[in-house]
Amino acid sequence: MVVLEHRTEECTGNWRLVGTGDERCIRCDRCDSQFAATPENRLAAIDENYAGIYLRRLTAEGLAQLESDRGDPGD
Ligand SMILES: [Zn+2]
Repeated sequence: MVVLEHRTEECTGNWRLVGTGDERCIRCDRCDSQFAATPENRLAAIDENYAGIYLRRLTAEGLAQLESDRGDPGD
């Protein structure tokens, strides 16, 4: 299981998918900790943001497919 680490343990920022194409990365919107946007890291970001509104934003960024792959029952 991949864990995306913030620069400080107490950071409560959300992971955002930023950039385009090969330069895509996942970045915290508070501490600016940054990771490559690999499928593993993107899923980890979804998990960490799950309770937050960023889940919806990430989904809008094109992660809808990953969501459906998880087999979530939906609403
Ligand atoms: Zn952070």
